[in-house]
Amino acid sequence: MTENKPYRILLYYKYVHVENPEQVTAEHLRFCKQLGVKGRILISDQGINGTCSGTVEQTDAYRAYMNEHPLFKDIIYKIDDADGHVFKKLFVRHKNELVTLRYNKKMDPNVRTGKRLSPKEFHEQLQRDDVIIVDGRNDYEYDIGHFRGAIRPTVESFREFPEWIRKNLPEDAKNKPILTYCTGGIRCETLTAVLLEEGFSDVAQLEGGIVTYGKDEEVKGHLWDGKCYVFDDRISVPINRTEEDVIIGKCHHCGKPEDRYVNCANVTCDKRHICCEECEAEHQRHCSEECKGH
Ligand SMILES: [Zn+2]
Ligand SMILES: [Zn+2]
Repeated sequence: MTENKPYRILLYYKYVHVENPEQVTAEHLRFCKQLGVKGRILISDQGINGTCSGTVEQTDAYRAYMNEHPLFKDIIYKIDDADGHVFKKLFVRHKNELVTLRYNKKMDPNVRTGKRLSPKEFHEQLQRDDVIIVDGRNDYEYDIGHFRGAIRPTVESFREFPEWIRKNLPEDAKNKPILTYCTGGIRCETLTAVLLEEGFSDVAQLEGGIVTYGKDEEVKGHLWDGKCYVFDDRISVPINRTEEDVIIGKCHHCGKPEDRYVNCANVTCDKRHICCEECEAEHQRHCSEECKGH
């Protein structure tokens, strides 16, 4: 982590019963607007899921407010330093589910979820021969970085996971240890709950997610290959702080190792693709010749 930068980025969630989520959302929006933070914060009757950026003073004030809040105290924040805002706008929204899922049951991670492993425990479990490692994110997130040996889920959005699990995880996996991970931990709270519901017996999740694993002083991101996709203007962040850090993505045009994403300049296409700086210039950020001629 760098030091003494003027801005900070907070990433956090908490599962807690919210009695009147619409009202809490309206209050939260008012407070955030006044304070001047930017980002994306979702509130439902299940709790809060947020990421926001602001000056050091603004983010300190945000955390102080939250620590006084009857529902949102005791949150563990993942904090990054930054040179400026990493969001263009502020969204504070009420949602029916914190993590949207296409599933016949409403999951409540407060009631049932997978075992939580610390970065050190997760690092140890990763090295077992019999373990099945499931990336709890989308395919494009996996493509620029993932834990070594993890299965790439062919999902473009989280709600496709229940169907993917039924079709892709072998029957004999039901008695094997399964490890899941995601960016900050919230998706795994739900994903491990679904896995348990589907009959998998030994299910564990990385507590605090990939970003916490990358900051851990003992494991230092070891066994993570590539970068971690993030949903803000940075697009990706480094995780592995050992000498084994590698680039695993490939430029869509020339195939050389690259982990930066761009969106196709043809707005009707807008396809997210990995692209090196030279190819971005050469193709004017278009994903294909068709788009270039558009
Ligand atoms: Zn290229
Ligand atoms: Zn295109």
